[in-house]
Amino acid sequence: MKVERLVLASPRGFCAGVVRAVNVVELAVEKWGSPVYVRGEIVHNPHVVRSLQEKGVVFVDELDQVPEGSRLIFSAHGVSPTVRQAAEKRKLKVLDATCPLVTKVHREAKKLAAKDYSIILIGHEGHEEVIGTMGEAPEHIEMISSKDEIVSLEVENSEKVAYLTQTTLSVADTREMIDALKKRFPALEGPSAEDICYATQNRQEAVRALAEQVDIILVVGAENSSNSQRLVEEARKHGIPSWLISDVYGIDTTWLEEVSAVGLTSGASAPERLVDEVVTWFADRGAKVEQLVTCEEKVRFSLPPELR
Ligand code: SF4
Repeated sequence: MKVERLVLASPRGFCAGVVRAVNVVELAVEKWGSPVYVRGEIVHNPHVVRSLQEKGVVFVDELDQVPEGSRLIFSAHGVSPTVRQAAEKRKLKVLDATCPLVTKVHREAKKLAAKDYSIILIGHEGHEEVIGTMGEAPEHIEMISSKDEIVSLEVENSEKVAYLTQTTLSVADTREMIDALKKRFPALEGPSAEDICYATQNRQEAVRALAEQVDIILVVGAENSSNSQRLVEEARKHGIPSWLISDVYGIDTTWLEEVSAVGLTSGASAPERLVDEVVTWFADRGAKVEQLVTCEEKVRFSLPPELR
């Protein structure tokens, strides 16, 4: 291996929504003891899930797996109102770890639906966040994931149509889709601020800067993590070979042949210790470690009142 430089993107890794969600679960176990139940993966990372399981957290897919009256946490991706109602019916003590930036999209969906708008939600089919948002106004929302779907898209009233987006999309692709939607529906309205969250935007911008300096880019993250997958795509769009690795064991040394500079970043749900292990792996093999800082993040979200 001839890798001389390992360049670390900054910002990378945990965003404020993930920090809050993980804190909610850890503090809940500390305060009420186990078992504490979590619906779905609290954030999309198996390492995070495993370490919480070791602390006594029980992850479930459906609410009927949770004994009546137990304490249940909703994941950072948010849930639809039907899930909230089901939890109420089972008299579950609910703690909400939904990222406030996802909650904001839910609020926008409700507001638009109340004004009888047709809502076009740009997102990835089957992603928990999209399922939750659609559940806020199922009769008003149509989901699309590609530009090709725009041609055949029908809305109730083309004068009253608005778009919303999943928070973890590619900024560039989404912009293209919004432009195409505007051509199809000139009256299209959108959220006052972009729904793609600050953490997704910042991590993609950091990868773009990294792509100017390195030969390949590794992204630490999980297969089902939307924002991690977008980082790999972003690097490839800039002509840089890129791979998603779940941890240090995912490194394939054939990728490193003839490579002198490696870029490293991580998705918003990947713990920093996984990045540290990759850094150690390269440093042990003689690579000089550098940081490339593209911005400082100061966003923090407060905990639910029950845990403050
Ligand atoms: Fe919130 Fe963005 Fe983090 Fe998702 S990636 S939890 S929307 S801050």
